[in-house]
Amino acid sequence: MKIAIVGGGPGGLFFARLVKRHNPDALVRIFEQNPADATFGFGVTLGGSSLGRIAEADGEVAQRLSEAMVFDTEQKIHLNGEEIVVEYAKPGGSIARLRLLAILRDSCRELGIDIAFDTRIESSAELDGYDLIVAADGINSTLRQEHGEGFGTQTRVLTNHFAWYGVGHAMAPNALVFRNTPGGRFVAHYYAYTPDMSTFVAECDDATWRAAGLDRMDDAARRRLIQQVFEVELGGAPLIENRSIWRQFPAVTNTRWHHRNMVLIGDALRSAHFSIGSGTRLAMEDALALFEATVGAVTIPDALDRFVALRKPNRDQFGEAAERSFEWYERIEHAMAQPILDFTYDFLTRTGRVDDARLDSYAPSFARRYRESRLDCAS
Ligand SMILES: Cc1cc2nc3c(=O)[nH]c(=O)nc-3n(C[C@H](O)[C@H](O)[C@H](O)COP(=O)(O)OP(=O)(O)OC[C@H]3O[C@@H](n4cnc5c(N)ncnc54)[C@H](O)[C@@H]3O)c2cc1C
Repeated sequence: MKIAIVGGGPGGLFFARLVKRHNPDALVRIFEQNPADATFGFGVTLGGSSLGRIAEADGEVAQRLSEAMVFDTEQKIHLNGEEIVVEYAKPGGSIARLRLLAILRDSCRELGIDIAFDTRIESSAELDGYDLIVAADGINSTLRQEHGEGFGTQTRVLTNHFAWYGVGHAMAPNALVFRNTPGGRFVAHYYAYTPDMSTFVAECDDATWRAAGLDRMDDAARRRLIQQVFEVELGGAPLIENRSIWRQFPAVTNTRWHHRNMVLIGDALRSAHFSIGSGTRLAMEDALALFEATVGAVTIPDALDRFVALRKPNRDQFGEAAERSFEWYERIEHAMAQPILDFTYDFLTRTGRVDDARLDSYAPSFARRYRESRLDCAS
């Protein structure tokens, strides 16, 4: 069996590792456009429960990831000068994206998997002769764009604007800060991913983008403005740039997950909005499901149909949750008009995956506090 994987992100690397470990005779080749020492990316979240699924499939990788992660059970929700600290029953974990990739790459190399760095695939025609082509090439997937009709791709560009920065110290607890300014509404989401580094995602709605003049600034001026807006949280520390370009998020879906002998996984399949912090986990779980579908399948088409059957229900659930989450952020002005307690409840339940019963086990002390406040209002 000859497998080409386009993209050496978490999805592509984990799939390569799982296949090669199970079938050492398979020829597995990864094509990655970036050099081996690329330095793009700060930290990503990888919740505790996702490690559980990874651990079941590959205990060694899960152990290495877990050792490199920072865990946190608290999250501060700040709204215009008021704040609530939410304690979660289960810890969330974060890891430096580069560390995660290094762990996965090393785990692939140990099995003799060939990773061709500095190799950008421009067309599936370059991969003739492979039995299976895995498009794990991320949100702007070249293969998906080349075969957009075959995959039934739909893209909706959201109206909010965001950029991803780093901060050179651990900002704890991790927090979401929602702030009205004379120029409009800004949101910061930050979390430590090592003892001395944090990720800092800044976001604003389109009205703010124009009213505050961000549309007429360059990225350096935008960074300075965000530093001013979140001066208190940053404690004067500068935001660190690393391809920190202001963008609008493309929400990508595909009607068909495979086309000919090509299959989409990870962000190439369905872009996971960063507000649900699950993109890395979903890419790795796609890889796991695709691997499980190939085991025992008689033909490639059979394996790809099994992949869809195995993975689609869960993926759709997450996709819908992500949609509800980004819709909530797209209407942030409305949400931010609420008092902090209602706002926090609205935030925690925005995806539709957390109802009152689940809130009790998910964030018990907040659920209690919110219920008591409702009773006080009623009496
Ligand atoms: C602001 C922001 C915050 C985020 N925060 C989080 C978070 O907190 N938690 C989380 O889990 N996720 C987060 N993510 C998302 C996360 O990074 C992705 O969802 C995840 O990495 C998807 O994995 P992937 O393997 O599908 O693709 P990617 O990680 O994007 O990897 C794709 C790889 O393919 C390569 N490639 C692309 N095209 C080609 C080509 N033509 N030829 C060869 N190689 C190619 C790329 O160089 C890249 O290495 C965030 C993303 C953004 C933008």
